[in-house]
Amino acid sequence: MTSARLLFDYLTNRIQNYPQKEKQAIVHMLLNHYLRLNNVDVLVDRPIPTDALQPDWNKVIERLNDNEPVQHIIGSEEFCGLKFTVSSAVLIPRPETEELVRLITRDYGEPDGRVDILDIGTGSGCIAIVLARFIPHAAVTGWDVSEKALDVARANAQRLMASVTFENRDILDSQISHLVGDTRYDCIVSNPPYVTYSEAEQMRPNVLRFEPHEALFVEDSSPLLFYQAIASFGKKHLKVGGRCYVEINEHFGPQTSEVFTNQGYKNVSLLKDIHGKNRFIRAEIA
Ligand code: GLN
Repeated sequence: MTSARLLFDYLTNRIQNYPQKEKQAIVHMLLNHYLRLNNVDVLVDRPIPTDALQPDWNKVIERLNDNEPVQHIIGSEEFCGLKFTVSSAVLIPRPETEELVRLITRDYGEPDGRVDILDIGTGSGCIAIVLARFIPHAAVTGWDVSEKALDVARANAQRLMASVTFENRDILDSQISHLVGDTRYDCIVSNPPYVTYSEAEQMRPNVLRFEPHEALFVEDSSPLLFYQAIASFGKKHLKVGGRCYVEINEHFGPQTSEVFTNQGYKNVSLLKDIHGKNRFIRAEIA
């Protein structure tokens, strides 16, 4: 293919299984990654130099049509303007979660002494790393139960020059409070698993087959398990005036709020994402 527009159309037409807008977004990601071509290059139909190194497009298309996420093919995803390495060991960062991070940078962005932040279930480290980078006076810790996820998170932090302490810990461990001793945080953030197995039926194969189930799913019988554990941990390990910020399942908004109010939190707000769905809770320790 000799020009950006021709290649763009050729690839878009060969992708199956996605709505048109997503096909185009995928091809933009591919062209950017492999050939450093951006939207404008496609619009003006920039010629592609004959000596440009191109991947085997047939293989790329084959993987996409086998439902492999484009982020696994190119090995990365952007989150809050930073590029994160991803693999099947971690959840691919989602745009909604950028809003969760923004709530926190808004609340803690002004320099006002040190802020201790804990990210529970850090995955690729995207939340922890962005907070460490954008809140310079923050001391950030990221927890995950998966050693493979922690490897990805540590590599991301190093590449993005963010100072974050990553630890292998399980918020569901009955000894967790004991394990952290008298450590207290100003802010606890988490995007825990919250999709119920019954919702899995409506999920697309690129998510179901390629993303870690332990980062996504909870039993239908206890969909709020992680929020109960986080709220209870926060009661013991948040400083006076400290807050929890969590991403939630849109179908359990009021119930998840109640977990926090029932445990004695105040100013519990249920917040919507850009699609108008109940997606976040911000709660202050009483
Ligand atoms: N929002 C993600 C999805 O629908 C799920 C994230 C999570 O379970 N924390 O794929």
